Amino acid sequence: MENNYKLSPSDLTFLWDECRRCFYLKVVRKFNRPSMVFPKIFSTIDLLMKDFFYELPADEISPELPPGRVAYASKWVYSESISFPNRSSSCYIRGIFDTVLEFDDGSFAVVDFKTTKPKPEHISFYSRQLNAYSYSLENPNPGKFSLSPITKMGLLCVEPVSMNRTENGNLAYEGDVTWLECPKDDNSFLDFLDTVLAVLDSPDPPMANPNCGFCQYRENARQTGF
Ligand code: SF4
Repeated sequence: MENNYKLSPSDLTFLWDECRRCFYLKVVRKFNRPSMVFPKIFSTIDLLMKDFFYELPADEISPELPPGRVAYASKWVYSESISFPNRSSSCYIRGIFDTVLEFDDGSFAVVDFKTTKPKPEHISFYSRQLNAYSYSLENPNPGKFSLSPITKMGLLCVEPVSMNRTENGNLAYEGDVTWLECPKDDNSFLDFLDTVLAVLDSPDPPMANPNCGFCQYRENARQTGF
């Protein structure tokens, strides 16, 4: 049977880099690693940022951006089926983007909010996730949400640096804000997906990451019989 793998933009970024075996087991065998505790405060900060920026002018994100406004937040993307000439299997992308800007010239930008100190390596690392959203918006499954053309992508990084007392007596974090533009490159992204399908089409999962505590725990349990 030909496979049409469902891929999530965040798994293509985090899980793929962390461990190909876990990625394979999740996508092909539907066997998920136990979810890790993700502090709720980061989801709350993420929501606050989306609410704060919604409908603001694009230059509130960065003065480097063309005129426009923050137009969409937290919407599902669902790409068309993506196939390659040398493979019988295919894939599609499903996920939820953070924010999309609409510029006055009718083009769009995909933006992800990060509570982090910006680093140059974030650009290549997160470009995969942003390219996945961008590709899905420009090449949607029929009837699914679409936007085109996507001309820009980037990260809005907020790094908490100080705390102040507000007029009503609350405390407020202050953050340094940095815009990191990421390159949009559909061809490199499709080459990457071809590599991903090569792994997923293997009859057996790849080797596990030797530094992962989960698999070490499983191995210890096997050896000790606990
Ligand atoms: S090493 Fe094991 S548990 Fe850890 S990420 Fe890989 S397959 Fe998953």
